Amino acid sequence: MIIKAYHPNGTPDLRRWLVQCDACPAQGPLLGSEEWFIPKNPDMFMYCPGCADYFTMRLISTGLSCAGCGNPNLKLKRVGHHPSSRTQDAVCGHCDSYLNPYTGWHFIDPPF
Ligand SMILES: [Zn+2]
Ligand SMILES: [Zn+2]
Repeated sequence: MIIKAYHPNGTPDLRRWLVQCDACPAQGPLLGSEEWFIPKNPDMFMYCPGCADYFTMRLISTGLSCAGCGNPNLKLKRVGHHPSSRTQDAVCGHCDSYLNPYTGWHFIDPPF
């Protein structure tokens, strides 16, 4: 949601408007929130960059199959060790190839 603020004279004070993630407590200034997922329709949920990645990867992992072997069974795996990191790879349960939201598919050679 967007938390609005107003000048004493009642006009919107855009510099103090905040975006609040609808899936976690993350909050930030509306100005400079390019990485947030903010739908045009104000009735839809908005997500901070971490949650947007998370939900994008959930959608990808259920709608996509492995580009390496065609296996539709992709699992989500958290990237990095920082506890606040919600970026996830979609990992193939068959050949271990994985899809990273920023760098694309990485193929693991099958063991011979
Ligand atoms: Zn969030
Ligand atoms: Zn695979």
